[in-house]
Amino acid sequence: MEKDKFLFVVSGAAGTGKDSVVKALREAHPEIEKTVSATTRSPRPGEQEGVDYYYRTQEQFRQLIDTDQVVEYNFYNGNYYGTLKEEVNKRLNAGKLVVMVIDVHGAANTRRMYPGATTIFLLPPSTQELERRLRGRGTETEESIRERLEIARNELAQQDKFTLKLVNDEVDACAARLYDVICQRAGLTR
Ligand code: 5GP
Repeated sequence: MEKDKFLFVVSGAAGTGKDSVVKALREAHPEIEKTVSATTRSPRPGEQEGVDYYYRTQEQFRQLIDTDQVVEYNFYNGNYYGTLKEEVNKRLNAGKLVVMVIDVHGAANTRRMYPGATTIFLLPPSTQELERRLRGRGTETEESIRERLEIARNELAQQDKFTLKLVNDEVDACAARLYDVICQRAGLTR
């Protein structure tokens, strides 16, 4: 429980810019570590095993669940995504500040295992902007985009379950506010 205050779960609807904000945070503060999730989806161009995700088959992923190796997992848009316990525990045990970037359902489940964790819901500046960002990625089919938009609407409805919310109006500014939150909640002086 004491170590949990070093754990921060960054979540929000897909397309809100969670990954960009956490990337900016870690560029400015490289001492903050990010867990690498496991997924059954295929790598996108440029993504790397062990850096962006651990890419696993459905069978391998089921085995991780069955052997109780995941903190949380979700089946999203046809694929499994989950965080391995080892990814979190090895960092907390080493006294690191740890950030997990996961979807809305995973955030609630994480707090069950780590009650002292801070959960942060990132909001897009507007729903129009969210749609523009989801389309802008340019790697998805129209059907997949429509599914993502529907999922995003449901995810936005969960925002009040989080410890706090931050608006991602501008990536670096949002990352700076996130860093302030981390320092404050972890009891660190800046
Ligand atoms: P993408 O396919 O765009 O990389 O990710 C799809 C969604 O899965 C995003 O909302 C992303 O944050 C979420 N996600 C990534 N890793 C995890 C994880 O370990 N657990 C959960 N629950 N969601 C994850």
